[in-house]
Amino acid sequence: MSRNYLIAGNWKMNLASTEGAQLAKGIVDLASGTSSVDICVSPTFTTLDAVAQVVAGSNVSLGAQNMHFASSGAYTGEISAEMLTALGVEYVILGHSERREYFGESDTLVNQKTVAALQAGLKPIVCVGETLEEREAAKTLDVIKTQIEAGLAGLDASAADALVIAYEPVWAIGTGKTATPEMAEEVHAEIRCLLARLMGEAAAEKVRILYGGSMKPENADALLAQPNIDGGLIGGASLKAESFVSLIESASKQSV
Ligand code: PEP
Repeated sequence: MSRNYLIAGNWKMNLASTEGAQLAKGIVDLASGTSSVDICVSPTFTTLDAVAQVVAGSNVSLGAQNMHFASSGAYTGEISAEMLTALGVEYVILGHSERREYFGESDTLVNQKTVAALQAGLKPIVCVGETLEEREAAKTLDVIKTQIEAGLAGLDASAADALVIAYEPVWAIGTGKTATPEMAEEVHAEIRCLLARLMGEAAAEKVRILYGGSMKPENADALLAQPNIDGGLIGGASLKAESFVSLIESASKQSV
């Protein structure tokens, strides 16, 4: 089963429209020759439109960092899936550990958002991952099981083409600490087993499982060489065109 690698940047709360458009232009220029890897950048909401204009017609897709599960209504400060698709957004990051930690997002909320994203035609990148405390208590696989089962409740094989999972050990995000390729692969393989139970084996083989947590040019080759690592969700290294494109090149090398 061959899955196209996906290299997805998460710009977090950085880069207003002018700077975001500049970074997007740098990525579009440097990555223009790459056809074997899916590429996505996820600016903050107010930068989406400017970046949409830069990436239009290129091989770089647009992602958002969050959304509300309702289509419209009295939800002050929120953005719906339909508002994102109207801007040309293709992917949406859901349940990032920063949203879980600072905004109290539960697995139930992540599930509501995931269902709504799929219904609106978006590709959800659903983030799961354990804290350092949970890893040290040997609870990693239990935590992942709970997050996957609750976060993806009700989905079936029809979700497989659009669904993306990101395994992001919380202790590795923005810390410079990376899971070893073997540690990451163990969890990715377990996620694929859980997906197989949820949506059947053939569908589970189609779902891309990204690794996230201090992925950078120095460690990308070894991580992306693992059989169940289908790309990366990248924070820090996605804020410079050169380092982000270097990760795209690592994925491209693995694709041949
Ligand atoms: C992230 O925030 O999704 C992430 C993986 O960040 P970083 O690459 O900076 O660890």
